[in-house]
Amino acid sequence: MTCIFCAIASGEIPANRVAEDEVGVAFLDAKPKSPGHTLVVPFEHVSDLGDGSEVFVRMAPFVTRVAQQVVDKLGADGVNLVVNSGAIAGQEVFHLHVHVIPRYADPDAVPSSVDGVLEALRA
Ligand code: AMP
Repeated sequence: MTCIFCAIASGEIPANRVAEDEVGVAFLDAKPKSPGHTLVVPFEHVSDLGDGSEVFVRMAPFVTRVAQQVVDKLGADGVNLVVNSGAIAGQEVFHLHVHVIPRYADPDAVPSSVDGVLEALRA
């Protein structure tokens, strides 16, 4: 069966992309925990941290840039970086990814629509 994150990374299926570099892509989570919740996904298919620790290390600079983008463009006051590695840890998509979850002191100051979030992140 095709990996959904491989399909998104290759452009085969659409996603709300907000950034890309040589290691992978970043796109909005379909079920955001907060406005701007973004997934950073490597082009290389590795299932989890056990399978892809070297890929994870290579992703770190890109993850850091995406976290900064979310803070700067959306005015987040903090950010959670989360990796669910393994089913027991809550992983549902078995292509390594990092959740970038912005946190806001004042949730009312944040764009509430996906279009608003996208516009701010792409500005
Ligand atoms: P995890 O539990 O760490 O495997 O999280 C997988 C995440 O992928 C969840 O937060 C889902 O909402 C998200 N997700 C699954 N399919 C898609 C998709 N096609 N586009 C965007 N986000 C997705």
